[in-house]
Amino acid sequence: MNKYLEQLIELSKLDKEIDDFAPRIAKIEKMLKLSLEKEKEFKLQAEALTTDIAEAKLKKGKNEAHLAELSAKLKDIAKKSALVKTAKEVKALQLEEEISKEQCDFANDEIGRLEKIIELKQSNITLLEEKIAEAQKESESIKASIDTQIQEIEEERRSVYQAKEELLSQMSQKILTFYEKIRKWAGNSTVVPVKKQACYGCFMRINDKTYAGVMKQDDIVTCPHCGRILYKEIEEAKA
Ligand SMILES: [Zn+2]
Repeated sequence: MNKYLEQLIELSKLDKEIDDFAPRIAKIEKMLKLSLEKEKEFKLQAEALTTDIAEAKLKKGKNEAHLAELSAKLKDIAKKSALVKTAKEVKALQLEEEISKEQCDFANDEIGRLEKIIELKQSNITLLEEKIAEAQKESESIKASIDTQIQEIEEERRSVYQAKEELLSQMSQKILTFYEKIRKWAGNSTVVPVKKQACYGCFMRINDKTYAGVMKQDDIVTCPHCGRILYKEIEEAKA
């Protein structure tokens, strides 16, 4: 194979690898972000439940205070009933007693209902706390593995940069300028394989003469349609 073509294929491969590092790091960091968001969401849910419980407790307190008032009132009625004389007074006290007892029933029902709510929400908080602990554990382990992975990527990046550095020192400036000029618009598809007689940059079929040139690998051949540098696809089955 033409030496320059070989260098160009290698250079484009290294450039692509260099460009791939940033999304690889971003992908790892996204995993951590998702885990932290999950943890935050659970915490918000638990906070909302805590607020609900405080509200329910307040309502329960009010009902209990009301119940104490009613109990005092009933005692008072009992005292009074020993002193009343007329049938009318007796009836009036009985009515008052009945109403107070109904109110007692209502307050007791309300306290029971609120207690159930408090209990349910409290058990939900317990479940959430378990989930929060799990999410925290997950975040911790992701953080630890991220540090290792990023370190590995950094090492890889250093070795790729070094390989590129070495390659560049061997390449002719003319070939490099030619490559960079195409790379400006073609990016990582500056040097592309030919498959089924088509350019794998623009996907258009190339003519027989160009195709023969690509197959011979003696020269640097560009796509007649888009101008990308072409090379003969290395069949993976052979490798
Ligand atoms: Zn093309």
